[in-house]
Amino acid sequence: MEYRQVPFITLSEIGCRVWITLSGCNFKCRGCFSNARKPTGKHLTVEELVKLIKNSSQRYYGKLPEEIIITGGEPILDKEYLLRLISKLNFAYIILETNAYLLDKEYIKELVEAGVKEFMVDLKALNDKKHEWYTGFSNKKILKNIKTIQENAKLVIKTLYIPGLVEEDEIGDIAKFIAAINPKIEYRINDFKTRHGLSRDPTINEMEKAYKLAKKHLRNVVISRSCRRESKPLKKKTWITVFPDGTFKRRSTKDYHLIRRSGQLSQETIQKPQ
Ligand code: SF4
Repeated sequence: MEYRQVPFITLSEIGCRVWITLSGCNFKCRGCFSNARKPTGKHLTVEELVKLIKNSSQRYYGKLPEEIIITGGEPILDKEYLLRLISKLNFAYIILETNAYLLDKEYIKELVEAGVKEFMVDLKALNDKKHEWYTGFSNKKILKNIKTIQENAKLVIKTLYIPGLVEEDEIGDIAKFIAAINPKIEYRINDFKTRHGLSRDPTINEMEKAYKLAKKHLRNVVISRSCRRESKPLKKKTWITVFPDGTFKRRSTKDYHLIRRSGQLSQETIQKPQ
């Protein structure tokens, strides 16, 4: 396709870092929290999107981005578009956030050659029945792709702790699977936020138990709480959303939750902060 629908890009207020949100997803996760699961936003060519990224970064940081995270939705829905996009942005450290279902050995290598330095893979469950129930798809291809990625680039794996579905034992099994590939792979356990009446938010105790179990197998494990506990207090707790027409809006986590609930994205122009 010549175009992909882009609802917005996001600029970090902490580092010179840009997130690109490509909307639309092949999965049907029952607890999906993403504003970009369904196609939404303006149709942009690769050239238009690259121009938006470069202009926004120059305007806000006074230079091109040092790090770019391509996320969604699912960025790999259009393989050709993604490759062309990456090859035009490879002046930055590029991280590709994906559910890894649409990858294969050849395409992983093409992505790395184009400029992807790091893959951030969302592994929902190791148990295939659970995976299929939650996403609508088997995880067999994903597990195979995880092994290939590890042979070709830096890899980070993420899992949501979903009470009643993906709990301590399942996370322990995922950690064992990752350790058999390489115990140094970074593993992040995030807490589910209840959605569509599904499950509930996990408790801190549950998260800590899962963390301890994963730590038995892996050297680099992080949970949402340890992210907060171990990181320095942030000076800025907001970020800048840039819409396809180039308008900027400063947003916070609170705004994000409101937007998630309403499904709306409003546009207000802001000035660069001093
Ligand atoms: S892979 Fe991510 S964006 Fe796609 S449906 Fe699942 S949670 Fe939503």
